[in-house]
Amino acid sequence: MRVTVCGAGIAGLTLAWWLRRAGAEVVLLEKAPGPRSGGYMIDFFGAGYDVAERMGVLPELHAVAAGIDELVYADGHGRRRAGLRYATARALLGGRVLSVMRGDLETILRSALDPGTEIRYGTGIAAVRDAPAGVDVELTDGTAHRADLLVGADGLHSEVRRLVFGPERRYLHSLGYHTASYLLEDAVLAAETGRRAVLVGVPGRQAGLYPVRDGRLAAFLVHAAPQAAPPADARAEILRRYRGMGALVDRILAHCPRDPYYDDVAQIRMPGWTRGRVTLLGDAAHAVSLMAGQGSSMAMGGAHTLAVELLGAGVGAALDRYERRMRPFVLAKQRSGRAAAHWMVPRRAWRIALRNRLFGLAGLPGGAAVLGRATRGLSSGL
Ligand SMILES: Cc1cc2nc3c(=O)[nH]c(=O)nc-3n(C[C@H](O)[C@H](O)[C@H](O)COP(=O)(O)OP(=O)(O)OC[C@H]3O[C@@H](n4cnc5c(N)ncnc54)[C@H](O)[C@@H]3O)c2cc1C
Repeated sequence: MRVTVCGAGIAGLTLAWWLRRAGAEVVLLEKAPGPRSGGYMIDFFGAGYDVAERMGVLPELHAVAAGIDELVYADGHGRRRAGLRYATARALLGGRVLSVMRGDLETILRSALDPGTEIRYGTGIAAVRDAPAGVDVELTDGTAHRADLLVGADGLHSEVRRLVFGPERRYLHSLGYHTASYLLEDAVLAAETGRRAVLVGVPGRQAGLYPVRDGRLAAFLVHAAPQAAPPADARAEILRRYRGMGALVDRILAHCPRDPYYDDVAQIRMPGWTRGRVTLLGDAAHAVSLMAGQGSSMAMGGAHTLAVELLGAGVGAALDRYERRMRPFVLAKQRSGRAAAHWMVPRRAWRIALRNRLFGLAGLPGGAAVLGRATRGLSSGL
């Protein structure tokens, strides 16, 4: 079987690993000019963790995981208002959770690939023609390619989705927030932060700081934004939005680079992910948003599910089964993402106070079980 995968991110690399293992011919197309690192911090558990274990990459992931002991909600000066010990969350998940930089996860998945796997960097898709005998793909480098299946694993703003299923506006549902993140080096701030993830919230805005394994810090910003389109100058927008939240946030802002990661917080909702010999995977098909968490886990769980189905049946039946198995998990996660947004970045002061109070209670006996129920659902069942 020949499979073209557009997007060498978390979903695309995982799918390539499983398909190559079964002897399929895989070509990965990646628009970035080369391997990327960094990104933002992700909490990694559930199906993704299970799939990573089966791929044998858990030791590498544990080696690069951030050592975080506590998640703290603080005031503008960094003073603690509420917190949750990571040990509580870890225990609820049976210890099967990691905090890793997205770039590190990607690097480890890439390194695990069979060395014969072709990754064409700086290359995307210009046109797609589907036919009963195969799918013809014209690449942006001017070459053409025929495969039995084209998989769009090219993220939230998928080009494969646009070309085959129509414009993004049909499927992208903004949750009313923008997010930004960047890495920073500040030894004093790193020492003060220690092994804590620190979040500062005021109505409609939340600025956070996560320790990264090598002494660096990852800034993580989310604010309410009525318009979906990101601004032309992301850095200027960040400074405008987050100034005035206190001394700690001002110190984080002082490190904001020219081109931070910046995007709309959105979900992709589609009635179907497959057309002929073209299917979508990961965020391209069903982004759940950072509000839901587990987007990377869904991407890896989906990639594994798709690979298993493809190896067991013809393309048509496999795509049908892949979608039927994934959809209930996706819909549940998307629902929880929409509900979580109000609590992650509350727009009213009373909600922040209530959220902090509930957060504190989660550390008490019984409270943890409630938190556990909220985090369960997508596990090795995929
Ligand atoms: C701030 C933030 C925090 C998050 N926190 C968490 C978390 O705690 N836990 C969690 O599990 N998830 C989290 N997520 C979500 C998670 O990062 C995504 O769900 C996950 O990365 C999706 O993987 P993917 O492979 O589908 O897409 P992506 O990771 O976006 O990869 C897509 C790939 O396709 C490439 N590409 C794009 N367009 C083209 C094109 N036209 N041609 C070729 N290649 C292309 C891109 O360069 C990229 O390499 C977070 C997301 C954000 C933004």
